[in-house]
Amino acid sequence: MADNTWLKCSACRRELPFGGVHWVCSVSTCNRNRMRLVFCSVACWDSHLSTVRHREAWAVEARAPSAVEWAREQEAERAADIASGRAVAAPTAVSTAPVVRRMVDPPKPVAPTSAGGLALADAERDMLIVVSKLKKYIKDRSGMNTSDAVAEVLSDHVRAICDEAIRTAATDERKTVLDRDVPKVPRRS
Ligand SMILES: [Zn+2]
Ligand SMILES: [Zn+2]
Repeated sequence: MADNTWLKCSACRRELPFGGVHWVCSVSTCNRNRMRLVFCSVACWDSHLSTVRHREAWAVEARAPSAVEWAREQEAERAADIASGRAVAAPTAVSTAPVVRRMVDPPKPVAPTSAGGLALADAERDMLIVVSKLKKYIKDRSGMNTSDAVAEVLSDHVRAICDEAIRTAATDERKTVLDRDVPKVPRRS
């Protein structure tokens, strides 16, 4: 499987990338850890209705975790298995710190990497801001200096905005994010 593949569509086996938009079933039994059904499209979700009996069900848009978050989730599951005696400890060092699942932040999507491209974790931390231009803008507008960390925080903002645009494009079933998918900038005074 390619490096950026998270899981395969439970219906058609198409590869679902880390951070990508996919569909899950609204019925909780279809989302248990050990029987996690994920679908690349509403059509594929629809096809599982022929194998299960749901009184009422709908497809729910979901976002795959990033590679880093997925690894953390797997670790948490393994820790839970160990705690409940269902599995033996993995030979690798298992963290003794309590595993905290991040529920607040939605998983950040990661741009698909080309072969030999950036590692996914690196891509997540990548700077999306031209620091020199950022500093010049702030200087020109206010005469103020800018701390380097500002660009990192702004990169997170850009990623969040991109996430929203990706979601809009995915809802439209497009493979290209268009300018109109990007939320509008609030009017400046
Ligand atoms: Zn599919
Ligand atoms: Zn279902």
